[in-house]
Amino acid sequence: MCGVVGVIGSSQAAKEVFLALTMLQHRGQDAAGILTYDEDGFHRVRNLGLVESAFTPNDLEILTGSAAIGHARYSTIGRGDVADVQPFLVSYPFGIGMVHNGNLVNFSQLSEKLKTESRRHPLTHSDTEAIMNLFAEGMSEMRDEKANYFEGICKATERVFQEAHGSYSIVSLIAEVGLVCFRDPLGIRPLIFGKHPKTGAYLVASESAVLYFLGYEVVRDVAPGEVVWIDFKGKFHSRVLARVLEKREPSHCMFEWVYFSSPETVLEGQAVYASRIGLGKNLAPQVRARLKADGIEDPLIVPVPETARIAAIALAEELGAPYRELLIKNRYIKRTFILDSPEKRQQAVDLKLSPVVSELKGRNVLLVDDSIVRGTTSRKIIDLVRRAGAARVYFVSTCPPIRKPCFYGIDFPDEAELLASDRKISAIEKDLGADGVIYQTLEGLKRSIGTPQKKIGLCHACLDGDYPTDVSLALKLTAKRKSDRLENKQDLKTKKERKT
Ligand code: SF4
Repeated sequence: MCGVVGVIGSSQAAKEVFLALTMLQHRGQDAAGILTYDEDGFHRVRNLGLVESAFTPNDLEILTGSAAIGHARYSTIGRGDVADVQPFLVSYPFGIGMVHNGNLVNFSQLSEKLKTESRRHPLTHSDTEAIMNLFAEGMSEMRDEKANYFEGICKATERVFQEAHGSYSIVSLIAEVGLVCFRDPLGIRPLIFGKHPKTGAYLVASESAVLYFLGYEVVRDVAPGEVVWIDFKGKFHSRVLARVLEKREPSHCMFEWVYFSSPETVLEGQAVYASRIGLGKNLAPQVRARLKADGIEDPLIVPVPETARIAAIALAEELGAPYRELLIKNRYIKRTFILDSPEKRQQAVDLKLSPVVSELKGRNVLLVDDSIVRGTTSRKIIDLVRRAGAARVYFVSTCPPIRKPCFYGIDFPDEAELLASDRKISAIEKDLGADGVIYQTLEGLKRSIGTPQKKIGLCHACLDGDYPTDVSLALKLTAKRKSDRLENKQDLKTKKERKT
């Protein structure tokens, strides 16, 4: 999961992109980069770390030009060094810079094809480079100076749509041409654009919160399968190209509403805040039934900060139970499930929350969290609350059980790592050490994201395995990685045994 942004027609393009990236920091905290363009060519700064530390004031001065794109990176693929930090750049044709949010399910196959058929050798381990090369291949057919740029852009995008499978929201800066953005035909990852009421500049970003923050007026979401081009004169062009593909309903990632997007963001016309209220309200009947069955009275509703707060408030209102913020967060620690090793996750959880013992002692506590992925965080929090003296501890998840891997950019690819992959609720309760675990239902989730009047096409493949694209290649790759890991482990064991 990453944050992407692009601006064109602004005298403050790099600074606006920098501020936008700070607004999108929750989408990726590993690295950040900005690329600008003016008559002297491209200017680029990329670094590891948080947005604020990735750029110095001097960097922002050298990032000149009225157009800029930027990226906040959350690495699911690649090595994690600066070479893999976006924006990427290719010099032919035109000079194309690109940032991407999403994940290709046929990345290895595509990369191999680009290498053998088009002689495009990859310089990074990123699927963004594969998309950029595919797009560049399409654009390179447009050699004539008088060529119709928009037709060329559409053809190049169609080529991406036909060959790149998975999720991608793309923002691209093309020398002398302008800002181009497009979204995969299923619209799995978000992308929205707006216009500045005074300057006429355009801004495109992963979340609408960025537009409000920088004074842009929302125009609309980029539609699934749509390409948008804004040229350097500020002229706007767009076309929906998905007709070239098999007709499918949009499949927006439900996790954007549940966890990823900022609460003030509106996606596909549906406010994230309202959806989180709905998630809390929809849980009330199940929670009430369970508490009644267990003879629990006067529970305290305690959110696991930060995302679950809104749903927890709504749940407390529905139950008529007191809402108390009794887990105090150290805000300087990264989101735990984003960390890439169990050791790192453990450490972070140890440091992240501190309980208000005086209020928890002797009380029946209903912890509310946005989701349970591996269970690492939930297990530690339940233990923390028990050690603080709570009488009974229930754990409520605003998301239904996550049972399947995500191949579209969220880092829970290995089924064996998912707490709910093949377990019944009683086993999950035992594993987590909770007196009860209550999950949202899929129906409750769908009701919360959208209304009876406005149904939103959702991806919920990680809940029920109904993937909106063919994921057979990704499944094979995951199985291969798993068997490689096992082989490596076995090799190490044999070597050790030989030594002793
Ligand atoms: S599989 Fe789950 S996390 Fe991945 S895109 Fe679909 S809904 Fe989102």
